[in-house]
Amino acid sequence: DISRLSKTDDIESLKKNLTDIVESLEREAGSIKEGIEGCIGNTPLIKIKSLSDATGCEILAKAEFLNGAGNSPKDRVALGIIQLAEERGLLVPHSGDTVYEGTVGSTGISLAAICRARGYKAHICMPDDMAIEKSDLLQKLGAEVERVRPAPIVDQNQFVNLARTRATEHTKNPDKPGRGLFADQFETEANWLAHFAGTGPEIYEQTGGSLNAFVSGAGTGGTISGVALYLKPKLPDIKIVLADPPGSGLFNRVKYGVMFDPKEREGTRRRHQVDTIIEGIGINRVTHNFEVGRELVDDAIRVTDDQALAMAKWLVEHDGIFVGSSSAVNCVAATKLAKQLGPGHRIVTLLCDSGARHLSKFWASTEPVGGSEDDVSLEEIINS
Ligand code: PMP
Repeated sequence: DISRLSKTDDIESLKKNLTDIVESLEREAGSIKEGIEGCIGNTPLIKIKSLSDATGCEILAKAEFLNGAGNSPKDRVALGIIQLAEERGLLVPHSGDTVYEGTVGSTGISLAAICRARGYKAHICMPDDMAIEKSDLLQKLGAEVERVRPAPIVDQNQFVNLARTRATEHTKNPDKPGRGLFADQFETEANWLAHFAGTGPEIYEQTGGSLNAFVSGAGTGGTISGVALYLKPKLPDIKIVLADPPGSGLFNRVKYGVMFDPKEREGTRRRHQVDTIIEGIGINRVTHNFEVGRELVDDAIRVTDDQALAMAKWLVEHDGIFVGSSSAVNCVAATKLAKQLGPGHRIVTLLCDSGARHLSKFWASTEPVGGSEDDVSLEEIINS
């Protein structure tokens, strides 16, 4: 804070003040990191002041977009998947081995960056309705990208199925160097374990073990399960709450144990396939990474596209925080939960990725931020 310096006019006390500042900066900067992998994890926990002031709860967000390889929580998972495969002898650096994955973007970006750093190739299959920034970025990272029409999981060309097939084809093809490894983020133990070993303990340390609730969306379920499995035994009273976007069956899975609302009849499943501009969270099938922690999820909160958009704008306007759609969903759900719990509680959620990755889709749906005519209250946002 250089305002301290501006208050000093003689040069000797200015120097003394500067020495103090440099010393404290050195302490905070920490050690030299070992490549991009050294920049994964230990992300800051940020108090979101506007949401905290408005609700009387402390709303804290783990800044996962500051993970330093692919800039999302998926850095933790991608590194875990590759380390596990290396340990099992399934990947050998610089041998032509290629990691295949079906992803809406974030996991692919993390895998592509870490593969580069470790001497592997990456081949990413993704739905073609995801923001174009993500596939552009993947290509710049040297990954092979296959964009496919969105399809149900029973379809062999669905992006996850296609990645699995491509990995097998690679291994069977004698003309291709190395082998293919299917990363399998939805089913692999390496996913929830990365959050059990990293995100969960970090939240516990950063809050000094004092928190009332953890709120998160689920794309594979790895984050919510891993964090819940770590925190719940230590803090039996903590509430683990799922933030669920339109079209996802997980809300009903948490509330009723099945993917559709049993009170509704015929056609429910079809109605769930609604269009949404939220990317990265929401699932309509059972995945190991969600199921492994499902029993620990206490409640679920639905969030609409409009609420997420309004929250994303709110966070820029009031806090200067520019995030993507899943982070906005998390913040809406955290605010709704704060209203339910009442003032005086501490709630932790995640900021998953930057708004820069969503300019052409999520952020394209909203008017530019600014101007007093934009003023909406938080109450209006969570009830919109
Ligand atoms: N946010 C973003 C941007 C994501 O891409 C994902 C995962 N696809 C998530 C959140 C959800 O994380 P998880 O897979 O651990 O449930």
